[in-house]
Amino acid sequence: MRTRITLACTECKQRNYNVTKEKKNHPDRMETKKYCPFCKAHTLHKETK
Ligand SMILES: [Zn+2]
Repeated sequence: MRTRITLACTECKQRNYNVTKEKKNHPDRMETKKYCPFCKAHTLHKETK
């Protein structure tokens, strides 16, 4: 079952991405490098609730 999560930039705390993830593949909080339009750079994005 896929779960909707939000990815927030760890630099500016903006929530930039809504994605779905496989809970069983990623039981913990996901951390992904993604482009942040506010920082204008690739930053680490973390899963938020
Ligand atoms: Zn940012």
